[in-house]
Amino acid sequence: MKFLCALCVLCGLVSSGVALDREAFTFTKYDLEIRLEPEQQRLGARGKITLRNDSAQPQKIAVLQISSSLAWRSIKVDGKAVQFVSQPYASDIDHTAALSEAIITLPAEIKPKDSVELEIGYEGTIVQDGTRLTQIGIPEDIAKHSSWDQISPTFTAVRGAGYVAWYPIATESADFSEGNSMFQVADRWKAREANSSMTLWVGIDAGPDDARMTVICNGVGISGDTREGSSHFHWAKCEYDSFGLNVPAFASGKLNERAIANGAIPLGIYFLDGHEAGASAYITTANSIAKFVADWFGQPKIHVAIIDLPDANAAPFESGNMLFVPMKNEDDKLVEINLVHELVHAALSSPRPWIREGLAHFAEAIYREQKQDGREAAVDFLNLHRTTFVEAEKDVVAAPQKNPGQPLATTFDESYYRSKAAYVWWMLRDMVGDDTLKQAIHNYHAADDKDPKYIEQPLTAAAKRDLGWFFDDWVYNDRGLPDFRVLAAHPWKGAQTTQIVTVTIENLGTAGAEVPFTIRFAGGTITRRIEVRAKATATTRVEVPGIAAEVVVNDGSVPETDLTNNVFKITEP
Ligand SMILES: [Zn+2]
Repeated sequence: MKFLCALCVLCGLVSSGVALDREAFTFTKYDLEIRLEPEQQRLGARGKITLRNDSAQPQKIAVLQISSSLAWRSIKVDGKAVQFVSQPYASDIDHTAALSEAIITLPAEIKPKDSVELEIGYEGTIVQDGTRLTQIGIPEDIAKHSSWDQISPTFTAVRGAGYVAWYPIATESADFSEGNSMFQVADRWKAREANSSMTLWVGIDAGPDDARMTVICNGVGISGDTREGSSHFHWAKCEYDSFGLNVPAFASGKLNERAIANGAIPLGIYFLDGHEAGASAYITTANSIAKFVADWFGQPKIHVAIIDLPDANAAPFESGNMLFVPMKNEDDKLVEINLVHELVHAALSSPRPWIREGLAHFAEAIYREQKQDGREAAVDFLNLHRTTFVEAEKDVVAAPQKNPGQPLATTFDESYYRSKAAYVWWMLRDMVGDDTLKQAIHNYHAADDKDPKYIEQPLTAAAKRDLGWFFDDWVYNDRGLPDFRVLAAHPWKGAQTTQIVTVTIENLGTAGAEVPFTIRFAGGTITRRIEVRAKATATTRVEVPGIAAEVVVNDGSVPETDLTNNVFKITEP
């Protein structure tokens, strides 16, 4: 199917002597009006989009892709309809595993860096569809918990690029069954669109029965209830100044809305009938979480929203300042963690994904440590993030030519800017302490963050310690991970029942870190920290109030490639 489609496109274009470059244009600006018809599960869209030629060649052909369940109605340039061929294009970037692609012949060639504005119209249905997951063998009843996007009479929630192409995109085919292909295509699109903007208007005529309908979108927005005197016309308008990491999304349904602390905390809770208990867990906890967040990250001030999902097993999704999460059967600890994450976004914004999302995930772990179950539970919690990037890092080390890696400072890969970044902030906290890190975070201003090193300097100054090597290995470059082992541990006879143990830790890996190690002795344990650079060893002496039996390096707080070589038994007398 995919091959055939690609072939027919090529045949069509060979005659005009032009190669099709689907990723030649960046879509710099969207101005879209979406009308929902929930009873029919339909939407109708019209608006304008601006395409900038970011390739090195002039382009006469432009490609626009929308979900395969939508169809193109009109495409105009300067008020005149342009010629286009519409065809299906197999790609797992959309939940239906296919796109409706319009291949447009532009009235004139667009030179590199020049732009063209298109007036567009399309419509169709968006029903729940797990095809891209079921076709790689995921059972339908599991696929539906992550592929929950749909327009429906009871509840509508639709996420954008990477989930449902409800606004036009242009990408090469993505394939879930081919390793990382799907994520690479989606990340490439996000990186290209990071500075693009969208004005989105979503409206719904709920009919005379339904004055309770709510429509929301996840950009900075306004929403309204009535238009032209109609009490059942509902709409929302959102502005996305620059997408950054945002995936534009909208939701609509009979949602109950609650403000927190009479609006003092910039958080809205939207929940479905029957989920009052889950929603009230959020509402009653928000105040204390806001205090915790303010202490670390400053006062929450940017509005965020948490939106209920009807399926109790639905996979949560977060984008922009909005979290979708089922509120049925919420457990209190999870509610707290979700609130921590969203309120960090309310307190601190950053154009850098590893700072914005990394700090929010770090905050979850810190909350786990300080307000829930202690350090070990927090490190276990961090370890849930481990596998997502450790495998990628192994590839970087094994074949750096083929896998040059992704510096945290510039990556758009979620497993890096969420998971790896959470560890990096945790390691920094362990190195400089709570107060110093808090101070650096409080002094962080997104508007002044023009240089990747902007956060390093105040942190180094506050910590009075060189952290340049750490930022080099973990943030500015992707050097892979450490791999620690205890090279040697020699006990010396100290005074009476005390031993001095000389411990040498070796880092076989390619990134340096400060790592904790624990000496177990009859009657207890003693933990110290040691800085070990990549491919190096470091030695220290520890006074142990007993007979040392064992040294264990790394409590799991430093991500490393091999955790099987971390224990050393002391056999000497
Ligand atoms: Zn987040």
